[in-house]
Amino acid sequence: MTFFSFELLHSSKKSKARVGRIHTPHGIIDTPGFVGVGTNATMKTIDTIAVEKTGLQLMFCNTYHLMLQPGTELIKEAGGLHKFMNRKQPIITDSGGFQVFSLAYGSVADELKSRGTKKQDKMVLKISEEGVWFRSYRDGSKLHLTAETSIQAQKDLGADIILCFDELPPYHIAEKSLQSSLDRTHRWEERSLQEHLKNPNNQALYAIIHGGIDPLLRRVSCEFLTARPFDGYAVGGSLGKNKQEMYQMLSYTLPQLPPEKPNHLLGIGDLESLALCVPLGVDTFDSSYPTRSARHGILLTKQGPLNITKACYAKAFTPIEEGCSCSTCQNFSAGYLHHLFKAKEAICMTLASVHNLHFMVEHMKEYREKILMDEI
Ligand SMILES: [Zn+2]
Repeated sequence: MTFFSFELLHSSKKSKARVGRIHTPHGIIDTPGFVGVGTNATMKTIDTIAVEKTGLQLMFCNTYHLMLQPGTELIKEAGGLHKFMNRKQPIITDSGGFQVFSLAYGSVADELKSRGTKKQDKMVLKISEEGVWFRSYRDGSKLHLTAETSIQAQKDLGADIILCFDELPPYHIAEKSLQSSLDRTHRWEERSLQEHLKNPNNQALYAIIHGGIDPLLRRVSCEFLTARPFDGYAVGGSLGKNKQEMYQMLSYTLPQLPPEKPNHLLGIGDLESLALCVPLGVDTFDSSYPTRSARHGILLTKQGPLNITKACYAKAFTPIEEGCSCSTCQNFSAGYLHHLFKAKEAICMTLASVHNLHFMVEHMKEYREKILMDEI
């Protein structure tokens, strides 16, 4: 396959950390790399051009949200997601399953909380071998999400990397149920692959490794999925109830993935987790952490996160971080940002998000430099 490949540049002598490059039709993704979450085909409060300037190489958009608004057929008509949002760099989309199953099992995804979905139990109508029927929170219409419809929706969107349709079981699930959920997820992933192979469309398909925090089930999942011609592997499902459990699970799961293919850790990208997971050999991480924090006035710096709304920043007439090359720090002082947050001016979220996103890009660059020198 020429439109997608993974190039391994260096494996650390000190840990399992590695530096590589994912080649896609819309450019390179340096790994380990941070993936920004742009749920509704935008990074919240930052337009596509400003995102490009931060250096972010891969953006994660959510199929579930785009199915409901504006509809994936409309985006197809616009020429695909890249054209629709005028993004020239790589995009990854998910299957939509995560959001639907979050509705079913109560742990509603962050992005949905603000929608006030009190009638969760009425949102998911039926889960069967075929897939899941659910109701649109927008207009109440009934929608059917299956391996086939999810892959078709992701073909409409045309992202560089797409994900298999999977079931997200709740953390507290009985062992027997987890096993049967895993078996069904594997059947759905196999169906996703078959649907994808009918029309690869210059898109790479990642499988999602499941199995919760059970070493045996994770192994079964690795064996089943790595025997098939997926282009990469995401680690999903329940990652444990704390960072320690996640670390343990990744320690035994990642070595079972083929080293010549890229891997992705779903939904994790806070600074502490990055420090834990980069040495284990994770290639890409997605998280809304930096942009969500920014909207609450939390700015990331080399000295740690700071709260710009605190009084001590009122007269800070220097940038948030000296030497930061982001457009916010190049043009505005911390004191001005403090004022904008206090005055509740909408632009404060944009300026803070630009800085945090740029911080993550630079942070990953530093990780790659350290790995190349075998310091990590
Ligand atoms: Zn900055």
